[in-house]
Amino acid sequence: MGNRRKRLKNFLFVFAAVVSIFVFFASCVITFLEVYSYRDSREETANVSAVSSAAASPSSSPPSGKVSSAAAGTAVTDENLLLVNYDHKLPDGYQPDLISVYGVQINRRAAAAYEKMNAAAASAGVSLWISSAYRSSEKQEELFQEEIDGYSKSYSSVGEAEAYAEKSVARPGYSEHATGLAMDLNGVRDDFDTTPAFQWLSEHAQDYGFVLRYPKDKQEITKIKYEPWHYRYVGVENAQVMKKKNLCLEEYLDFLQK
Ligand SMILES: [Zn+2]
Repeated sequence: MGNRRKRLKNFLFVFAAVVSIFVFFASCVITFLEVYSYRDSREETANVSAVSSAAASPSSSPPSGKVSSAAAGTAVTDENLLLVNYDHKLPDGYQPDLISVYGVQINRRAAAAYEKMNAAAASAGVSLWISSAYRSSEKQEELFQEEIDGYSKSYSSVGEAEAYAEKSVARPGYSEHATGLAMDLNGVRDDFDTTPAFQWLSEHAQDYGFVLRYPKDKQEITKIKYEPWHYRYVGVENAQVMKKKNLCLEEYLDFLQK
């Protein structure tokens, strides 16, 4: 009897020790997981607000990289809608997801969409080609300087020449081409809108996720002269709504936030 009680006591002691060690390790694991999931969710929030502050309406201040103050549910988090215009600079450190195709560098999603659009256009007897897509800030600087040089004789000050140049060529850091989501089609031709290719794009581009970014009737809003050749990838769903409601990107972002 004495031996059995002793064995039982020993067994209970070992059992209690094993259980407490297990509980200790389990609580360590749970604490570890909680800390990590908290960190992940903080990082996600930071990423999303970086995009949403960049995509905020033109009336709000330029992206600062700080956490967005937009109320929950109103922030636009779709990276396809990244707004880069005269008062929305490309977010600092923004890394476009580029691939090299058709002799240009372009955003991966835009490239896949263009491939489909190009095939559909070709089967309708329409020939499309990309003359320019992604442009680095250095390249944009070069183009902007060339544009200023072209006007400098007609203007009394550099500031005036710059202001005029800006209507045709965006300042470095303020060009949509730096996102990789924009492309110029079939050369930069003012009469592109008289071609069958333009006609085809007017009817079908939205079904592949592209919109005419600087339309004639939106120059006051975009602050960019009408560019029949410049198309922007925004995703099919967005492009179709923009086309149907005749909204340029600035207006569409306002519309989404209301
Ligand atoms: Zn362009």
